[in-house]
Amino acid sequence: MDTHWIDQHGKQWKVPTIRGRLKMRIPCHAALRAFIFWRDQYTCQHCGSQNMLVPDHMISRRNGGTHHPDNLQTLCDSCNARKAGLVDRKRPQRGGDDVSLY
Ligand SMILES: [Zn+2]
Repeated sequence: MDTHWIDQHGKQWKVPTIRGRLKMRIPCHAALRAFIFWRDQYTCQHCGSQNMLVPDHMISRRNGGTHHPDNLQTLCDSCNARKAGLVDRKRPQRGGDDVSLY
């Protein structure tokens, strides 16, 4: 997996290596979130909704996924919650504590 990514303005950023959630007060995290939405045209990649969008890790952090844009997609809140429900059924012991990135 690449250690850098390039945003919609051609600026190169380091892929965040934090273990937890992205934090919007950290510029490279905010840039990453903005880039994911821009790349996905501010549209949920599951249902096409443009409301209540959240960035989602396709491979979750706990399964070794990274914060690289290749591993991130735009989902709406309800699709994200539905996906989280599937994850939770597989890992009931973890509950939904890190379902949402923000
Ligand atoms: Zn959706």
